[in-house]
Amino acid sequence: MKLAAWPAMPLTREQALELCCVIDERRAALLEELHKDMGQARADMDEIAGPVPDAGDESVARTIAELDQAEVSREVGELRQLDQARKRYDEGSYGQCIDCSGEIDYRRLRVHPAAIRCIHCQERFEQPRMVELPDGYRRL
Ligand SMILES: [Zn+2]
Repeated sequence: MKLAAWPAMPLTREQALELCCVIDERRAALLEELHKDMGQARADMDEIAGPVPDAGDESVARTIAELDQAEVSREVGELRQLDQARKRYDEGSYGQCIDCSGEIDYRRLRVHPAAIRCIHCQERFEQPRMVELPDGYRRL
């Protein structure tokens, strides 16, 4: 960790260190969940499909596998975001909004350690249909 990177961080040293722990803990918990989910998916398949599956059983097994798949890909996605957060942390750009370069609120990072946008930019990002009109009106 480069100390020279600290001044660029909008967070205090203590807050940054704490968030680093949050990231690492969340990553570890996710990895554990992933291992469990993948083991469970395999167990479900074995139980339902069995050694000689008929067509019906197979489609049930496939549905379960797809459900697990959705859960797993959500977890993998979050894990990837946390990895990127960790990378930004090491580079000293953690806690900085990628859209407006402003500070991301510490309390927001505490809840969403992988957040890449401040709350204002995130709201704008999540409502792409909301356009700002020149006369100041907002319309869908
Ligand atoms: Zn922003």
